[in-house]
Amino acid sequence: MKRTRNFNAGPAALPLEVLQRAQNEWLNIEDSGMSVMELSHRSAEFEKIHNRAIQSLKELMDIPENYEVLLLQGGASLQFSMIPMNLLPEGKRADYILTGSWSEKALKEAKKVGETAVVASSKDDKYTFIPKVEDIKLNEDAAYLHITSNNTIYGTQWKDFPQTGRVPLVADMSSDILSKKIDVSKFGIIYAGAQKNLGPSGITVVIIRKDLITDNDSIPSMLNYSIHAKNNSLYNTPPTLAIYLLSLVLEWAKEQGGVGKIAENNEEKAKVIYDAIDGSDGFYKGHAQPDSRSLMNITFTLPSEEAESQFLKEVKQAGFVGLNGHRSIGGCRASIYNAVPLSHCQELADFMKKFQEAFKAKEAQIS
Ligand SMILES: *Cc1c(COP(=O)(O)O)cnc(C)c1O
Repeated sequence: MKRTRNFNAGPAALPLEVLQRAQNEWLNIEDSGMSVMELSHRSAEFEKIHNRAIQSLKELMDIPENYEVLLLQGGASLQFSMIPMNLLPEGKRADYILTGSWSEKALKEAKKVGETAVVASSKDDKYTFIPKVEDIKLNEDAAYLHITSNNTIYGTQWKDFPQTGRVPLVADMSSDILSKKIDVSKFGIIYAGAQKNLGPSGITVVIIRKDLITDNDSIPSMLNYSIHAKNNSLYNTPPTLAIYLLSLVLEWAKEQGGVGKIAENNEEKAKVIYDAIDGSDGFYKGHAQPDSRSLMNITFTLPSEEAESQFLKEVKQAGFVGLNGHRSIGGCRASIYNAVPLSHCQELADFMKKFQEAFKAKEAQIS
């Protein structure tokens, strides 16, 4: 069977085993004689799938009892608004750290809701690094501190997280959730669109500490954490197919040996490609400073625009998909989420070496 070497940034590669299981169960889920999309979202069969997804995530991430797991729609982008609508009261200020385009977008939406402040930023350095945790000065009664744990577009990632004391730490983990172990109890909210590490698009996971869920009737019901929490994320019709696929990806993650094992694989995968960059004598240049490098999105450039467009053309011809950098910054990017196998990373690294040799040889011939 043809299986493309898929380095898309999101929606992204899904585990083959998950797709095959979905295929096997496509016409008859849970022995119902129906496909999962035809089940009532109030049926026992669907409820089992729904609760299994939530339970698996709790197990995999070791989520403490005092947290609620919500399955919502609207993508991570809707959380940019829901977070301040639910957590930022009048008279308080929310702190934001800018580490890339997604944090900028989160801030932009929060500004429409209330008072905000930027407490650290790497914007002046083209978002090549993550600010040092010790340098971050919070407003002591900030409503929350918002960070983007992995910067999908720039290819940087937080290695350790700011200590925020009483201030809830809110993290957009869309592109690195479930890629490594984290201590959930250090966060007030963790949220993620599913389409990078968790499944298909159409579902957003929100892990929220229960004391941050408060009743507030002035917030529209669909944007209200309290309404979703009280209804086990079944207030209205959920995206049942996406939740089913999420449940399969989470079961796959458990079969891989859990997050610890997945993290080891991810380190090995990223090392293969970063080694190709670092061993290229500057032919490939990483965008991120080495201590801020992302293990999920590897961003790099080549010595000239000509070399870059040649590389992108040839890598595509060789059967690798998704290596163009984000349209806002250009360059190249390899997204290597949990479902991307090590062999694909090795093949990409080999291709990079061969391309470099061929390009150099051609240059030498011309001059
Ligand atoms: C992809 C991504 C988003 C946007 O997610 P949507 O589900 O499309 O709204 C937000 N933040 C980060 C870090 C992302 O990688």
